[in-house]
Amino acid sequence: MPRRIGLLGGTFDPVHIGHLRGALEVAELLALDELRLVPSARPPHRERPSVSAQDRLAMVRCAVAGVAPLTVDDLELRRDRPSYTIDTLESMRSDMDPRSPLFLLLGWDAFCSLPAWHRWEALLEHCHIVVLQRPDADVEPPEALRDLVAARTVSDPKALDGPGGQITFVWQTPLSVSATQIRQSLATGRSVRFLVPDAVLAYIEAHGLYRAPNTAGTPGTASHGKPPSASTLKSE
Ligand code: ATP
Repeated sequence: MPRRIGLLGGTFDPVHIGHLRGALEVAELLALDELRLVPSARPPHRERPSVSAQDRLAMVRCAVAGVAPLTVDDLELRRDRPSYTIDTLESMRSDMDPRSPLFLLLGWDAFCSLPAWHRWEALLEHCHIVVLQRPDADVEPPEALRDLVAARTVSDPKALDGPGGQITFVWQTPLSVSATQIRQSLATGRSVRFLVPDAVLAYIEAHGLYRAPNTAGTPGTASHGKPPSASTLKSE
């Protein structure tokens, strides 16, 4: 049986329950053998991450330890150039049975920004695209993606067929949490407990990450951060 592999790339600055819950639900829905979380070393066209690639990788490792079929792949950190998803897909494909399906998971905001990605039109040659809906998602994709969505969408994710080339939309448990909100909470001394796994929180605290210098050690209070906005589109 060809292995069924998924890929969720991200800055993971830090990894949070929105990433993890979405990844786990898609892995179950699509009966994946493995779902690789791939931290981006140098996200193109986006602000430098707040903490080092090694810290972001370590936090993802803490988050998925023992949570099969989630795994971590550091291949983008081993490359000495910007982290283009097309390169990652080509690299993963070169190690796979060509008949094996490969699933690229993208949050709605990342999906909407696809036309700004390096060689984005080639992505579907290597994989299916699975779009994780976010609670703040617009209903319609941007104009540049409408024809592609109309031609390639399969409404039932379980009906995705072949090694790649199709798009589907998944409504996982809505979690309106973003890394931006978590960084803001930490910088102002508020708690992010239950927004990230306890092991990630322990890593953040042990390494003093994300704290504004004058708030280190401030006791946490409940977080009421602004939810992510679909208008803060990313590109690569
Ligand atoms: P930031 O707030 O720093 O922009 P982020 O929370 O969007 O970060 P990323 O690491 O940039 O996190 O996201 C990686 C992938 O996970 C993207 O495809 C993104 O759309 C998706 N994602 C992030 N948060 C959620 C969420 N709450 N629900 C569903 N998908 C999400």
